[in-house]
Amino acid sequence: SKPIVAIVGRPNVGKSTLFNALAGENISIVKDTPGVTRDRIYADVEWLNYQFTLIDTGGIEPDSSDVILSQMREQAQIAIDTADVIIFMVDVRQGLIDADSKVADMLRRSRKPVVLAVNKADNYEKSLPDVYEFYNLGIGDPQPISAAGKQGLGDMLDVVVGYF
Ligand code: GDP
Ligand code: MG
Repeated sequence: SKPIVAIVGRPNVGKSTLFNALAGENISIVKDTPGVTRDRIYADVEWLNYQFTLIDTGGIEPDSSDVILSQMREQAQIAIDTADVIIFMVDVRQGLIDADSKVADMLRRSRKPVVLAVNKADNYEKSLPDVYEFYNLGIGDPQPISAAGKQGLGDMLDVVVGYF
């Protein structure tokens, strides 16, 4: 069956924007218990000659940093359990925050392939110095993208499908 790619990251980094940019019309929603964070949204994606299933694990809007971290851990665990490749998304405008580092540690320990997508790099040249900061996460080369502007997505997907 097709490889599974899951997007994880803090609220508002742009996970759903990326998901929608790649998913086109093939979206289906799998709902678990109402009010729980575990709804998963799936889409069948084609990229060049590759086909894969993409999962957006985003959940309810958290209201505190504790909730954000526990929700991120839960998302990351879902991704570790179900995905072949994990896209870990961060926000170049907010920079590296503690929750990112904690989740990066968790992903690294899982030994799953992780692609580090640094989103909101809308102006590629201007963003690069800030993008380099994310090397400190220790999960590989940061891939600058603009999900909203649909920039850098091809280069990032090349890295993703390289793990299939
Ligand atoms: P999620 O919570 O991680 O799913 O994030 P969303 O996809 O809902 O996006 C959160 C906010 O970031 C929205 O206002 C998006 O329009 C905005 N956003 C997403 N991608 C980009 C981007 O590439 N550049 C900029 N400037 N904003 C973005
Ligand atoms: Mg979302």
